[in-house]
Amino acid sequence: MSKNKLNGKVVVITGASSGIGEAMAREYAAMGAKVVLGARQADKLEALCNEIKSNGGQAAWAATDVTKQEDCKRLIDTAIEAFGGIDVMICNAGISMRALFDDLDLSVLHRLMDVNFWGTVYCTKYALPYLQQSKGSLVGISSVAGIHGLPGRTGYSASKFAMTGFLETIRVENLKKGLHVMVACPGFTASNVRFSALTADGSQQGSTPREEGKMMTATEVAHIVARGIAKRKRLCLMEIEGRATHFVKKFAPGLVDKLFYYVMSKEPDSPFK
Ligand code: NDP
Repeated sequence: MSKNKLNGKVVVITGASSGIGEAMAREYAAMGAKVVLGARQADKLEALCNEIKSNGGQAAWAATDVTKQEDCKRLIDTAIEAFGGIDVMICNAGISMRALFDDLDLSVLHRLMDVNFWGTVYCTKYALPYLQQSKGSLVGISSVAGIHGLPGRTGYSASKFAMTGFLETIRVENLKKGLHVMVACPGFTASNVRFSALTADGSQQGSTPREEGKMMTATEVAHIVARGIAKRKRLCLMEIEGRATHFVKKFAPGLVDKLFYYVMSKEPDSPFK
């Protein structure tokens, strides 16, 4: 079903140089979408674009640091110049962190907000008129950490909650304009996100504290998000972690506190016990 829905659509994806964004680019192009890719690593975007084109797909790219308004504008301009409109804007670019708030240099929290929250705001700002025109979809890739506060990830959870508040308001403001707004909440997904996650002093973690092989794959997430867009869902939950967190939180939020504490304290080198 998602194949037909994305066929011929112009889909802008931030954070398309790695992980979930890269998988969405490849998968949606294979479904017939015209994909427009943004991220900072231009060489990776160019290579992915060439790969998509050599497989018969359509793609364009623009080097984009989502913390810079002018870069986000250029990404949207690239989509318009290449394909004449935008049907789906996926705000996926994101970074994570891992440290106890007690030890955290506040610059890390600012950085998380700059990429995850402000990056979403800037891309939405420039894409919105085109999405209103197409009655298209605005998608934010949040996280289970955007449903309930994840210990050791204050900046990450805060930025994802902020994204949700922002996107929800955009949805309500556009209620009569036919805009679809979806918040997608993947659980742990194998990618680079834990390697690039910032530690207390802002340096990159460089390793993962979890077993990446046991996680969902980025391709699986891409397919679930595509189905969510096709069904014009408001919230796209994935595996048991997301569904259980969303459901149990309504009735027993204290239980979710305890579960999150327990699960995350078991990570090797957890910043709390
Ligand atoms: P990756 O680290 O593999 O990919 C992150 C992407 O974001 C890269 O393409 C990176 O590109 C881009 N990015 C980072 N900073 C910037 C920036 N300043 N400007 C533009 N792009 C940037 O991680 P994932 O694929 O896992 O993450 C994608 C999204 O999914 C994130 O929002 C993340 O929070 C979310 N998520 C991930 C989960 C997981 O377990 N993997 C779980 C739940 C949600 P570049 O470095 O080239 O700029």
